[in-house]
Order: sequence, then C-alpha cells, then structure tokens
Amino acid sequence: MTTVTFVTKKCRVCGNISRQAEMGVRGIMEPYDLDSRPTGAARSSIYLWVQRCSACGYCAPDITQGDEGVQKVVKSQEYRNRLTDQSRPEALNHFLCWSMLQEAVGRHNEAGWAMLYAAWICDDDANIRAHAVECRENALHLFDKARECGQDFRKGRLQEELLKIDLFRRCGRFDEAAALCSEQLERGCDSRSKQILLFQEDLLEAKDSSKHTIAEATEDM
Ligand SMILES: [Zn+2]
Repeated sequence: MTTVTFVTKKCRVCGNISRQAEMGVRGIMEPYDLDSRPTGAARSSIYLWVQRCSACGYCAPDITQGDEGVQKVVKSQEYRNRLTDQSRPEALNHFLCWSMLQEAVGRHNEAGWAMLYAAWICDDDANIRAHAVECRENALHLFDKARECGQDFRKGRLQEELLKIDLFRRCGRFDEAAALCSEQLERGCDSRSKQILLFQEDLLEAKDSSKHTIAEATEDM
C-alpha cells in the first residue's frame, strides 16, 4: 500500500524548515511500461517524487540531502529561469531543475532519470505532451554521458539497452532503435528480453512511437 505522509524537512541549501509530502513505499517501482514506468499508485504519485524548498527553490527527491556544489547551482540565473518558467507547469520545472542539479554535480545517470521522469509528466498532460520527445532526447544524451563516465543507469548493460531502444522509439528514431535491437538479438539474451526485443521490432516496423507495456510484449510466454 502507498501512504502519503507530511514530514518536516530542513533544506540542504538554505536551512529553511518546511513541510513536505512523502510517499510511504517509494521503493516498490516494478517496471510496467517498456520505458520502465511503474503502474498503479507508484505511477500516479510521480508528483511526490521531487520536493521543493519553498524558500530557495531547491528541488530534490529529499531536500535535506544533496552534493557539495548544489548551492551554487540553485542560486544561478539558469536555475532560476528554469524554476520559474511560466510556459511550463510547475511539476515539470521541478523535475527539470532536479536534472540540472544532478548534471552539474556529475551524476549524469541520475540526471538522465530525472529527465525521463520529466517525460512522463509530459505524457500525462495533453497541454505539454509535445515536450515529451525533447525530454527523452535529453535523457538519452545524459545516459550516454553516464556511460562515458562509467556510471550505470540500470542493472546491467542489457537492461540499459532495452531502455534506450524504447527511448529511441518514443522519439521516432526508429532506425537507431532497430539497430540496437538487432545488435542485442545477435548477442543473445534471456527469453523474456528476447520477447521484448521482438515486440519492439514489430513496433518499429509499424513506426509506432506510442506507449506500450511489458505485458503486451510478453503475453505469449
Ligand atoms: Zn532552501
């Protein structure tokens, strides 16, 4: 069961005390969609995944935590602009700010995830759905950067490639997705992953860039 509680938090950046909503069972995040988005309460609770300090605007999953160097970024003009951009919903700005902070301190893998979460926020809102591709492009770029720096962004290379394939597809980059698919199929993998790869190949063939689930891919198993 997912419970929401309100807890008192001291901001890592400015020391301000505020009340923040927190989810009880954040750990349970079974992938459901092909891009690993969970279902049920974990899916709809996405708005609680980032806290924001009401005083300085620091955005993080837990505003009591943060690396050395986040203070400087929070005070920067670029961060302020992103945080207060009126053309986008506040929730989206929070994820984009979190991503910017993680990138600034060299956690490219975390920055990539924040960007993917931002894409999910866009997926849920017809008014900003057009921004989802841009967020996924950014996530792909950050995951590549993470790999260059030796940072994992999922458990194992195959899981990382499966995620990248779906990101490419959702961005309409069908050829790159297909190339990665056949590379993984040639390399060989477990039967579940193979089902997913073959399903992705069908979607790519049909130039389908919409959301699909892991259950759809593995239903014949
Ligand atoms: Zn603060």
